[in-house]
Amino acid sequence: MYRIRLHGRGGQGMKTAGRILGSAFFLAGFEVQDAPRYGAERRGAPIFAYVRAGRTPILERGVISRPDLIIVADDHLLAMPGAGVLSGAQPQTAFLIHSHEKPSLWRERLNLQGPVFTLPGLPENELRFRGAACAGGAAALIPELNIDLLAEAVQEELAPLGPELVATNLGVARMAYASLAAHRGAVHEGGPVSAGEYTPPGWLTLACEEPLLSAPAIHAAATSELSQTGLWRTERPIIDGSRCNRCWWLCSTFCPEGAIQVDDERRPRIDYGHCKGCLVCLAQCPAHAISAVPEEEAAAQGETP
Ligand code: SF4
Ligand code: SF4
Repeated sequence: MYRIRLHGRGGQGMKTAGRILGSAFFLAGFEVQDAPRYGAERRGAPIFAYVRAGRTPILERGVISRPDLIIVADDHLLAMPGAGVLSGAQPQTAFLIHSHEKPSLWRERLNLQGPVFTLPGLPENELRFRGAACAGGAAALIPELNIDLLAEAVQEELAPLGPELVATNLGVARMAYASLAAHRGAVHEGGPVSAGEYTPPGWLTLACEEPLLSAPAIHAAATSELSQTGLWRTERPIIDGSRCNRCWWLCSTFCPEGAIQVDDERRPRIDYGHCKGCLVCLAQCPAHAISAVPEEEAAAQGETP
């Protein structure tokens, strides 16, 4: 059975990629299971999806713990242990990473033993098609799939989006397929997983420490700085400088992302790279100086994020 796990962020098309791959397998005569798994809230948060494809009815359920292929749509996730991208990777597990970096660099950085492939990073204006790119690249690595099955699956899964978007996704999927066609057969089916290998979670006995030692504390921005939570935003908070009374601490203190800095003149400034659009600041501002503008509208008005 093939076990494929796809990692990305909400809004990056991982669910779509899983569905396209699942359909392609189904059209090739496989029994298929595919499902997305959402962890955190909203667009931009790490999510994963998984696809199982077997020749007999699939009795396995739940998360894939020993994947044959791991697809990574956003290479920043590899630096985030919480995203669990490397979890359960076996020496033979293949990796397909959407990245401008070379496969050899990822192999060395992550100490990977199995085959590693990269999908050429898409230009900024095509990033929304990366789900199709990931599905196309993965289809090229699996010997039972081919370009015709991939095309049929893209058309079937994306038909509700209309012919224009189907054609664009198809073009991207075909390009990704062509870029990896030389590696056809690089992903191998894994063997059966025995229930005897399952280790149930055990109790953790936590040491009892002084509160000052054991209380959680954030000592550095660490990966939160890498995580561009600005991508989650659908509404942009905009501060009207003429109404802001420079109370300086309310919006800044309550912002859960620490995305509002206050300058020397006590003017609050929003870091839109990390503002996730929760609008807590808007609710807290006593002067009602912050308004919410839909992202598209703000962009159309030329507001720079
Ligand atoms: S909407 Fe406001 S509170 Fe929420 S992340 Fe953005 S700046 Fe911070
Ligand atoms: S809470 Fe409102 S008034 Fe206070 S600094 Fe922020 S925007 Fe200005």
